Amino acid sequence: MSELLVATSNAHKTQEIAAMLGVGWQVHSLSAFPGVTLPEETGTTFAANAILKAQGASAALPGLLVLADDSGLEVDALKGEPGVWSARYAGEGATDADNRQKLKAALGALEQPSTGFTGRFRCSLALVKDEQVLHVTQGAVEGHLRLEEQGAGGFGYDALFQPVGYEDTFGVLSPEVKNSLSHRARAMAEMQTWLTEKLQA
Ligand code: IMP
Repeated sequence: MSELLVATSNAHKTQEIAAMLGVGWQVHSLSAFPGVTLPEETGTTFAANAILKAQGASAALPGLLVLADDSGLEVDALKGEPGVWSARYAGEGATDADNRQKLKAALGALEQPSTGFTGRFRCSLALVKDEQVLHVTQGAVEGHLRLEEQGAGGFGYDALFQPVGYEDTFGVLSPEVKNSLSHRARAMAEMQTWLTEKLQA
């Protein structure tokens, strides 16, 4: 069985990635390594922050394959915000509910375009071993932002984001549906192809 650390303390992200990798992988999160702390996310792109996080965890855990995800929501009417600041949109230490509240207020103050509020989730994944970057992948899912929350599933902005082709938000859609089309699923699919070709050959 192959072993991989997901350099996050976000249980939702770890669950999604473990479900996508499936059997054959033993997936740990940072909760298994309480002494390991991640560096500050000082990058201005998702990829730069994913690499920072993966290398930071890898420095403390030599020999272990480390995967880090950096992801967020871009809203066109907000010129791409919250973007790389998605987790901290309502300030340092903000909860997901605080961030959703701020987004609803920001959108509510704007005139709604005829297309509705368009946006996307983006995800970059960085795979690192012994601080060396092995591979970086990207994924995105386009959708619309709702002004009212719908559903309690998922995390972050899920209850406000309705992917293109669906009538419900990620807060209502099942984990199976989300994991088949999400930004993270798309970045993971590419990463899995690479893992299969390079590591499990
Ligand atoms: P990160 O942990 O620094 O990558 O921050 C990611 C932030 O983007 C999260 O805290 C969420 O607010 C948001 N985000 C990323 N992926 C998702 C998702 O799949 N659903 C909902 N929100 C997400």
